[in-house]
Amino acid sequence: MIIGTVKEIKNNEFRVGLTPSSVKEYVHHGHQVLVEQNAGMNSGFSNEDYEFAGGTILKTAAEVWEKSEMIVKVKEPLQPEYGYFREGLIIYTYLHLAADEALTKALIDAKTQAIAYETIRLDDGSLPCLKPMSEVAGRLSAIQGAKYLEKPQGGSGIFISGVPGVDRAKVGIIGAGVVGENALKMLVGLGADVTILDINLNKLTYLDDIYGNRIKTLYSSNDNVERVVKASDLIISAILLPGGAKAPKLIKRAYYKDMKPGSVIVDVAIDQGGSTEVSKATYHDDPIYEVDGIIHYSVANMPGAVPKTSTTALNNTTLKYGLMIADYGLDIAIGRSNALKLGVNVYHGQCTCEGVCEAFDLPY
Ligand code: NAD
Repeated sequence: MIIGTVKEIKNNEFRVGLTPSSVKEYVHHGHQVLVEQNAGMNSGFSNEDYEFAGGTILKTAAEVWEKSEMIVKVKEPLQPEYGYFREGLIIYTYLHLAADEALTKALIDAKTQAIAYETIRLDDGSLPCLKPMSEVAGRLSAIQGAKYLEKPQGGSGIFISGVPGVDRAKVGIIGAGVVGENALKMLVGLGADVTILDINLNKLTYLDDIYGNRIKTLYSSNDNVERVVKASDLIISAILLPGGAKAPKLIKRAYYKDMKPGSVIVDVAIDQGGSTEVSKATYHDDPIYEVDGIIHYSVANMPGAVPKTSTTALNNTTLKYGLMIADYGLDIAIGRSNALKLGVNVYHGQCTCEGVCEAFDLPY
């Protein structure tokens, strides 16, 4: 198969779909890999690194899109890239289609085969290709949250760790999955006063076993969410519904008037539409906005800020499924791997992901 990777065009996105090491692996399996010139530069990979791995450097993104049978990316294709969609082309990347009707429609209309990293799901319900980026985003969410609590950044001015004799910041984490757990790990390390909520009691039990009374766990009822949101200096929303559905708006605007001014909401679930009633995606160059005195940080590609770590972490999990598609072709590959089959969001002009179909009232 001819596989291609292009430079990401999303604002301040510095990751790249393939590392030279992955390119080497595809080549080793008998495939050809095309790489847009300088695509890996921001992740620390030179054109020579890719050539040394057996890839071919092409000058423009257009050449890579047009000559490749499968495009391996990081973020969802943006409007200027829709023109490259065509029947039979495979796109293997994060898609988050439930939050993007225009892209969903463009993929369906073009009959492009679209495989979303975030809906590849193992039998135990885990999401192997979302996990590494959730680890990064979860850890970063603690750092960003602590930063935007600082007064010069617009926050209330409370120091996340406190100091002896002075209160630590109160933090509420909604969702105890990969993002939530990684945020928790950092925040406990920083010395914050953390409460973590989930509807999955097994996860709360597990965290209780690990952290004991250094943290508080709470069932995520509407009532508990409201109480925690109102009492916290920092809220991290780390919810994900199974099947790629839109995130529920658990954090109501009506709560804001009872929150401390300058409190911060890090809406990590923004890539699934966000968890507040005023959620809107932001970018690394202008990451926050304020509503009713509450600071919202809602960058949809948080791991893009640390591309050297994120690109390699992502390739560690996406390579396996990418190789299956390249080696067997998509139809046979999804017959062999149920996890990969669940990653297929658009197939021969049909929406095939339940959450996405529900979001836009499409037949499933
Ligand atoms: P995950 O599946 O590991 O965890 C999600 C958790 O949310 C689960 O434990 C689930 O039980 C819980 N949950 C569901 N409904 C809930 C509710 N009503 N209240 C409390 N908890 C609830 O998912 P994850 O990998 O941790 O990802 C979390 C979110 O972060 C996703 O939306 C993902 O797309 C997003 N994400 C964003 C970025 C970014 O850059 N902004 C990066 C990575 C992941």
